[in-house]
This record gives sequence, C-alpha cells and structure tokens, in this order.
Amino acid sequence: MKSTKNIKILLGDITKIQADAIVNAAGKGFGSIVGGGVDLAIFKAGGNELREEAKREKEEKCPNGLQIGQAVITKAHNLSCKYVIHTLGPRYYSEDINKLKDCYVNSLKLAEENDCKSIAFPAISTGAYGCPIEKSAEIVKSVMQEYKSGKIEEFIFVLYSEKDYEVYKKVFKVLDK
Ligand code: ADP
Repeated sequence: MKSTKNIKILLGDITKIQADAIVNAAGKGFGSIVGGGVDLAIFKAGGNELREEAKREKEEKCPNGLQIGQAVITKAHNLSCKYVIHTLGPRYYSEDINKLKDCYVNSLKLAEENDCKSIAFPAISTGAYGCPIEKSAEIVKSVMQEYKSGKIEEFIFVLYSEKDYEVYKKVFKVLDK
C-alpha cells in the first residue's frame, strides 16, 4: 500500500494548486463545450490556448467525445501546473458509478507516462453528476490502497466545500492506521 504521507487532502480551488498535473472533471465534449463546476474554472484559468489544445486533442483522441473513465492529457497553458488531465466521470443516477475508479486509475497512468511527480484531483462526479461525497471518498481510497507504482510522490485531493473536505479527511484517516 502507498504510504499515506504523500496523500494530502485540501480545501480550496484546484486551479490554485501547485502540482505537476491537475485533473479536470470534464464533460463528454471537453474543450469544445465548456461545462460548469470545476471544468469551467479550469478552462477560465487555463485560457484560450488550453481550450484550443483540448479541442485538437478531442478531435484526435475521441472525436465522438470522451468515454466514461477515459483520460486525455493537455498542457496547462496559463495554469501554474504543467499538465491538465481531462477525464469523464459517470453520472451517479444513470451510469455505473464503479467506473469512477477508471477516471482515477487512467489519470494516474497518464501522469506517470508524463513524468509527473505530483497530481491533484477534484472530487470527480460529485457535482453536477450527483455522486455522494462519501461514495467518492470510498472509491478514491480504494484506488490509493491498490496503487502500487512509486513514480508519483504526491497525491492531492482538493475539496471545494467544508463538508466535502471533512468527509474526505474522515475517510482517509483510516489509511493512517
Ligand atoms: P461532475 O460533473 O463530474 O460532477 P463538477 O465540476 O460539477 O463535476 O463537480 C465536481 C466537484 O468539483 C464538486 O465536488 C464541486 O464542488 C467541485 N468543484 C467545483 N469547482 C471547483 C474548483 N474550482 N476546485 C476544486 N473543486 C471544484
């Protein structure tokens, strides 16, 4: 199991986080259709060039849109990280929530392939897509427990509300034991 000293739970805006990569809870048409929530914040902060690159990547890698659990990487442009990893989470009420795991696993894979030493995630699927924060924390914890590679040194989970932050802190404390 990965040592917990490299896992940070933070309250705040992911666009302000210092990490090699930040993850975007993107929509299916990422880049061309900018959604709300964290996607909107990331594209606003990343600027037009981020949008242009995302559109090109979408055309090349997934012309019919991102698949649930798929992850695509772009540079970060005006953001202070190096990369943005765009991934599509499942909708809680109509899609398989277990695929949320794929979002995290595939994002970690891409981060490793691009030599990232640190990565920051939002709580994917817990906004417009309706996943309870407790379920998200449970799934993310299991990804961390199963994550074996030592290539990434720091995992940051960024929560946007006090309540979500408290839930993550509570669930992740178990890892310390
Ligand atoms: P999804 O469609 O995958 O549910 P959302 O963007 O609607 O994506 O929400 C995902 C999570 O991101 C929610 O918990 C929301 O509160 C949070 N969030 C929204 N804006 C930010 C931000 N700037 N930084 C970090 N988390 C954010």
